[in-house]
Amino acid sequence: MREFVCGCCGRWRVTAELIRGRYRYRLVRRYRPEFGGGKDVLGEAGSIPELADLLTRRTPLTLADLREAA
Ligand SMILES: [Zn+2]
Repeated sequence: MREFVCGCCGRWRVTAELIRGRYRYRLVRRYRPEFGGGKDVLGEAGSIPELADLLTRRTPLTLADLREAA
């Protein structure tokens, strides 16, 4: 599984999971420990255009803000 994280604060993450030959993208928001930690799954997308649309609707980010997590 590949994971991408935003460069601004690290709280927005996208995981890319290969399922039956196609990537499934999952958008997750992580909370800081002082806010109780944990995470919310904000949505899933079946393609890069869908993921870009999801980011636009649910986050202040675009695809260009994401980089692959180490
Ligand atoms: Zn950020």
